[in-house]
Amino acid sequence: MHEIHFLNAKLADGSPTDITVTDGRFSTITPAANAASPPAAAIDLAGQLVLPAFVEGHIHLDTSFYGDAWRPHIPCTNGFDVRERVAFQMRNLDQAAPMRERARNQLELCIGNGSLAMRSHVMVDAAVGLKHVETILAVREHYRELIDIQLVAFPQSGIQSSPGTAELLDEALKLGCDLIGGLDPASFDRDVKGHLDMVFGLAEKRGAGVDIHLHDGGTLGLFEIEEIAARTTALGMQGKVAVSHAYALGDTSADALARAGEMLAASGVAIMTNAPGNHPFPPVAALRKAGVTVFAGSDNIRDSWWPYGDGDMLNRANMIGYRSGFYEDWELEAACDVVSHAGAKALGLEGYGIAVGAKADFVALKAEHVPEAVVAVPKARTVYRAGRVVARDGSMKG
Ligand SMILES: [Zn+2]
Repeated sequence: MHEIHFLNAKLADGSPTDITVTDGRFSTITPAANAASPPAAAIDLAGQLVLPAFVEGHIHLDTSFYGDAWRPHIPCTNGFDVRERVAFQMRNLDQAAPMRERARNQLELCIGNGSLAMRSHVMVDAAVGLKHVETILAVREHYRELIDIQLVAFPQSGIQSSPGTAELLDEALKLGCDLIGGLDPASFDRDVKGHLDMVFGLAEKRGAGVDIHLHDGGTLGLFEIEEIAARTTALGMQGKVAVSHAYALGDTSADALARAGEMLAASGVAIMTNAPGNHPFPPVAALRKAGVTVFAGSDNIRDSWWPYGDGDMLNRANMIGYRSGFYEDWELEAACDVVSHAGAKALGLEGYGIAVGAKADFVALKAEHVPEAVVAVPKARTVYRAGRVVARDGSMKG
């Protein structure tokens, strides 16, 4: 049995607390005792706020150029076009540093900022085959003591549009991917039923989760969201399905949003947003109020889709709050929840949170309380995995 004692931690409710970690999990969380003779090896957190490690719910480990040469952004020729962006991406990737190096750079950035659970989409299509999946599976293995990573087999070039992809997706799930992805069934593959039949069919066959990239807006996007929710309910997959981006939810009438929110909540389909700067995005407060799990991710960091992103989910909470017009304390706390507890729920993480019995994966930082952490985004922070320091002030230790 291995015990680690922490003194003077501040919990989200402001209470000063002493914490014991036993064999990597919280074993006691008690009011700070100010004991005259604390255990000799106790770590004094000096009143720092302790938050559960952040959840990076949507990232692309295979296509980032973080740490590689700068790739100037290439604009689409006639408005946002997924197909054209994929073509730019293939061109850039041909000239990039080895994928393993780029993925590791990005992972260490995320861990350094306090994310210890992650969901990464990994490209699968007829051109790249399973090369990306094989590389990222090896990277995941290398980092397994530091971060829990779920991988999504992601048909970046569509399924019907890229013959052979369905078989490759099946193979990717057999190799170790946890979920199957999808991409704009209507605008990309122009076959909503065929695309979703394939995605949900493979999910059912392999017992995998589903996380679909959906950029389609308006009533078309809403229709697809409703189809995904209906299939989730029909297959009993509540809690195992997510829609990433779901721009249509940010671009609809209040009545239609209320209907979609009700359906998403009832079917247990989670919604991922990165609060992009140039798109309508899902209304976080309204969806949470309807009972929908809204989680977040960095999505693209220094890649062919956009140059932004810093791998800091606390900063992502700040962006979500800023773009959502969150000013009150409870709203800022909601922004923090999106990058922590709601993310854990969407990813189905076991033992998440600051609670007795939970995994001792946490971040300690200087802030009065959660609302201040969200607006100030203190970069000085210490990241603990199973109670041991793995990163400090944005950099991995050692
Ligand atoms: Zn994405």
